[in-house]
Amino acid sequence: MLNVKEYHRPQGLMEAVELLKRKQPRTVVLGGGTWLTGEAPRDIEAVVDIANLGLNRIVIENNLLRIGAAVTHQQLVESGLMGPDTPGALHVIGQTAQAMSGLNIRNRATIAGAVVTADASSPLVTALLACDAEVVVAGARDKSKEVQDPGDFWKVIPLAGFLTYRRQVLDEGTLITEIRMPIPSPDTRSSYQRVARTPKDYPILCAVASFAMKDGIAGNVRVAVGGVAPTPIRLSRLEFGLEKKRLADWFEGELEAQMQTVNPQGDWLGSAEYRKAMARVLVRRAVMAIA
Ligand SMILES: Cc1cc2nc3c(=O)[nH]c(=O)nc-3n(C[C@H](O)[C@H](O)[C@H](O)COP(=O)(O)OP(=O)(O)OC[C@H]3O[C@@H](n4cnc5c(N)ncnc54)[C@H](O)[C@@H]3O)c2cc1C
Repeated sequence: MLNVKEYHRPQGLMEAVELLKRKQPRTVVLGGGTWLTGEAPRDIEAVVDIANLGLNRIVIENNLLRIGAAVTHQQLVESGLMGPDTPGALHVIGQTAQAMSGLNIRNRATIAGAVVTADASSPLVTALLACDAEVVVAGARDKSKEVQDPGDFWKVIPLAGFLTYRRQVLDEGTLITEIRMPIPSPDTRSSYQRVARTPKDYPILCAVASFAMKDGIAGNVRVAVGGVAPTPIRLSRLEFGLEKKRLADWFEGELEAQMQTVNPQGDWLGSAEYRKAMARVLVRRAVMAIA
């Protein structure tokens, strides 16, 4: 249970970052609080609530979809730009946000909270990876420079890199301000596939594919899979192997080559062999649903 001594609700970004940069007391960002209230480390003494920073908007700007850090999972589900019933490739964001949890949690849990706490098979994070998402953080600094350039304050990090280094990034006292991604071309399609103990359960594994098809040739191929590593991963080898190729001729061979590099750990939900075999099935289903 979270038991903090200080609760802050700053009105501006600089104030929020200054609070997070303090060495003592140990201070973290409070998003929706759904993870923090149950799972937070016991040494957290102060929280910075980002509710008043205006980070709850979804906007399109210069062919980029910009999703504020405090946008809730339910906002993603209801968004006209990416809700599950929206045409186009981005509907997969709303579809996977819906798959994260029940309505009560979705109404509070934020998109930034999801990428910070990303577990192995997070459907939303798998979809964000397949949509080329980037994480924008405020309060960064360039460690190699003695005098900081004001431009160093902002950092844009590809989501895959953020997932690998998230502890280091956040330990610098940074704050995620938005998740952003390019708007896919109108002919891009996407597909989310999953396996779970029951249809309503959180997935054991999931896969998201996104690409455009013209005359049997695949373009702008993105494939991500959850449940085979500590966080969801992009299948870059497969993406590269299928790009501008005739899918019917290349898919099986490239999938096989990619799967050689995937080595999941087994656990109580599925053995390593099960996870590897099921990842192959789900990726095939996701790609074939578009082809
Ligand atoms: C009953 C229940 C069921 C759940 N089921 C699932 C599930 O199935 N799958 C799943 O993945 N999660 C699940 N969760 C956990 C949680 O709901 C999600 O991880 C959620 O996405 C967290 O978002 P939040 O906004 O509530 O994060 P918070 O709890 O507010 O924060 C989570 C972490 O992210 C950091 N953080 C939040 N926002 C920012 C920001 N803008 N910048 C920097 N750091 C930030 C916080 O400091 C903290 O370390 C569940 C929780 C509950 C209570």
